[in-house]
Amino acid sequence: MKWWGWGDEGIAFTHRDKPALARFIKRHLGLDVEGRTSRPMAFGDLHIPEPSLTPDLRAALEEAIGDERVSTDPLDRLVHARGKCLRDLVRHRRGELGRLPDVVVRPAAQDEVSAVMRVALEADAVLIPFGGGTNISGSLEAADGEERTIISVDMGLMDRVVDIDEDSRLARVEAGVLGPRLEEQLNARGWTLGHFPDSFTHSTLGGWIATRSSGMQSDKYGDVADLTRAVRVVTPAGTLSTRPVPHASTGPSVREMVLGSEGRLGIITEATVHVHRVPEQRVILGYLFPSWPEALAAMREIAESEASPSVTRVSDSWETQFSFATRKDPSLLDRLKSKALSEYLKRRRDFDLEAMCLSFIGYEGSKDHVAAQRKLVGRIVSSHGGLCVGRSPGELYDQKKFDTPYIRDYLLDRGAPADVSETSAPWSRLQKLYDNVIAAARRAFDDLGVRGYIMCHLSHSYHSGACLYFTFAFKPSDRRDVLDEYDVVKAAIQQTFVDAGATLSHHHAVGTEHAQWLEEDLSGPGVVMLKALFEGVDPGANLNPGKIV
Ligand SMILES: Cc1cc2nc3c(=O)[nH]c(=O)nc-3n(C[C@H](O)[C@H](O)[C@H](O)COP(=O)(O)OP(=O)(O)OC[C@H]3O[C@@H](n4cnc5c(N)ncnc54)[C@H](O)[C@@H]3O)c2cc1C
Repeated sequence: MKWWGWGDEGIAFTHRDKPALARFIKRHLGLDVEGRTSRPMAFGDLHIPEPSLTPDLRAALEEAIGDERVSTDPLDRLVHARGKCLRDLVRHRRGELGRLPDVVVRPAAQDEVSAVMRVALEADAVLIPFGGGTNISGSLEAADGEERTIISVDMGLMDRVVDIDEDSRLARVEAGVLGPRLEEQLNARGWTLGHFPDSFTHSTLGGWIATRSSGMQSDKYGDVADLTRAVRVVTPAGTLSTRPVPHASTGPSVREMVLGSEGRLGIITEATVHVHRVPEQRVILGYLFPSWPEALAAMREIAESEASPSVTRVSDSWETQFSFATRKDPSLLDRLKSKALSEYLKRRRDFDLEAMCLSFIGYEGSKDHVAAQRKLVGRIVSSHGGLCVGRSPGELYDQKKFDTPYIRDYLLDRGAPADVSETSAPWSRLQKLYDNVIAAARRAFDDLGVRGYIMCHLSHSYHSGACLYFTFAFKPSDRRDVLDEYDVVKAAIQQTFVDAGATLSHHHAVGTEHAQWLEEDLSGPGVVMLKALFEGVDPGANLNPGKIV
């Protein structure tokens, strides 16, 4: 993973193969994309302070897990310092590194994690579990003034599927496994977890559990909170182990307390998760709706119906226009088809092309199941004025979804911050929530005197509501620090979430980025309970202190 941005070295987003994109960005942000105006500092120019690690503590860690797995390498410490939220990227690029971990350790087994915990507590050091480092909620960074030694516990060597109980459709999996390695091991035996967040390639099972993550196919498979049946966690009081039963009445759920705990209760070493047979067929179809209210109504009706698609996703008109602008060079045949479709939509269906909304709906299972689902959904879509536009937009989206994260670095290279905020709310509040957020973001752009863009999609539908996912970008004014301007926009959006009765985050966690809205979301006594839990389990505040509350 790059220390200053997303993904692998050598992979980057470009507008060169997308003929409409440069014009689109110029029109909406006033940004000329031709030249890079900003670059991350060179690694060699960064000031990386010496680690604060006594010889005794180093020796104890080496004895616990072997000296080759105890690292104070400067690049290692830098990569483990933060996640990938916009604030992390901007400060890393500028060389404002904050409080780096002093040492990175890589345990390879449960007893090694326990040994690291013992050594750390004896030395009164801070332990920060590290999965893939992809969180966007400030869940990894240590507080600036932390004087104790900081140990980053990289779980990457614990990456095995230990066992599959085929009768129960449960797999025991080590928590440090990255998405692709997990699916590779499960697929080899005909199974899948079905958890595909956009960060899939670089995030881990332990990180998903510790942040309550959601994947694109959650409508079928569930969020990670549904998928996780049992957990094994090394805590200061010893190893916590819950049973992989389908349901239990054993007081407040300890398993649920671990979900979303962001390293504050211990180090998750293993989880037992639901697995499903790899589906015979997987289809993602594109649909167009005349407007956002009609699209929202269709998604609600699909959730209420007997249909059970694996993906329901619909973009508002602003995101639809952005999607069209990121299309790669179309062939002549594609251009003719898309012209014919535009004519048909305008003349025969009375669509306003500026207001229409693009949707992807996915189906998985046997051929018969997929065919029946498509029929059910097709009827609902047409009753809301929508129409199916076939497989190619969905296939394209499916292929490029893991590349899209690179766009943030591309915009930062041109001086423009871009970020996301996501929430969930009951169906009855979604339209109002959407209207309020769009208005709040635009007001924030106006107050700052900047050109900005905000767009949204609905993803993850549930019985009673859905997730709304907003993406925004703006061209900073140069009158203030870019992060101060970013804070104004981000805070306007987050505040609107909680004011509208929605949650501060549907799947990106609290960390430090969203902690200021926690009390409004959970109420005062909710925060008191969380504090009591963290203080009770970790009286010395050694485990990732300062996150969540
Ligand atoms: C471009 C991009 C796209 C994203 N898309 C999605 C998406 O579609 N869905 C989604 O849910 N999220 C998404 N995220 C957010 C992020 O990927 C998730 O929060 C993910 O779950 C973090 O996993 P990780 O392994 O990278 O954890 P890290 O970032 O390494 O850690 C996150 C938190 O979990 C703790 N932790 C990690 N491993 C353990 C462990 N074994 N035991 C205890 N605590 C642990 C850490 O201490 C930290 O507090 C995206 C992020 C980016 C940058």
